[in-house]
Amino acid sequence: MRLKDKVALITGAGSGIGREAALLFAKEGAAIVVVDVNEQAARETAALIDKAIHVRADVSKASDCQQMVAAAEQAFGKLDVLFNNAGIMHAKDDDAVSTDEGIWDLTLDTNAKGVFLGCKYGIPALRRAGGGSVINTASFVARLGAATPQIAYTASKGAVLAMTRELAVIHARENIRVNALSPGPLRTELLMSYLNTEEKRRRRLVHVPMGRFGEAKEIAQAALYLASDESSYVTGTEFLVDGGLTAAYVTPE
Ligand code: NAD
Repeated sequence: MRLKDKVALITGAGSGIGREAALLFAKEGAAIVVVDVNEQAARETAALIDKAIHVRADVSKASDCQQMVAAAEQAFGKLDVLFNNAGIMHAKDDDAVSTDEGIWDLTLDTNAKGVFLGCKYGIPALRRAGGGSVINTASFVARLGAATPQIAYTASKGAVLAMTRELAVIHARENIRVNALSPGPLRTELLMSYLNTEEKRRRRLVHVPMGRFGEAKEIAQAALYLASDESSYVTGTEFLVDGGLTAAYVTPE
């Protein structure tokens, strides 16, 4: 088992990538702290796992992040893996001219500040455990501009990448590794409710060499590698799992 005796906290684990990672990490021997702002969803994920607790927390709130880490240490005695995965993509996130300031704030608070707060309270716990792995979910949009704009989301994911590099350098000598995981477009609720017509979905797929959306399970497999000791010399990287999207100039017909 690749995560035997480890304790992993996963935010946004009520759905999508987070839920698949929770199930996979558990299968590989980890105890799981299932965190989500949607308590019912978190409870449902935890119910599928033997060694798991669920915690309702909004990652944009400091006190919630402090509590989720405390709950992990209380339930399982330590924290080894911190997967800052929760994120939102607002339907009204558009270009700079059209996007409301409130949508910018909400998106940055969840996607960027949420990672900061996860680290603020999670890194001391990793230190207490003698080291660990932090995985921050970014996105391919931190790399490539799109004609279908989501200015706040894109900026938030750029912040996640930049933060990840700095965190990795700062904590490298403490046996704490920090990596970003950048999924390509996935067939999850988050993206499918944004690309809500066949036409929009087809237009997005034109840019993906593999010609299909990725699955949350495929991202969970990459997260497993970063969480496990198999990636013991990997820190500060961006792990792109995107069907070739960011490598493409022209895709096959
Ligand atoms: P999802 O919507 O299926 O899951 C996200 C989960 O995060 C939900 O359960 C939601 O309740 C939770 N959440 C939202 N705001 C929260 C908050 N403030 N505090 C705690 N939990 C909160 O989406 P997903 O596709 O699994 O996305 C997971 C991550 O992957 C996100 O960071 C997203 O930006 C990123 N991502 C997704 C795609 C994609 O195509 N789906 C592509 C690139 C990156």
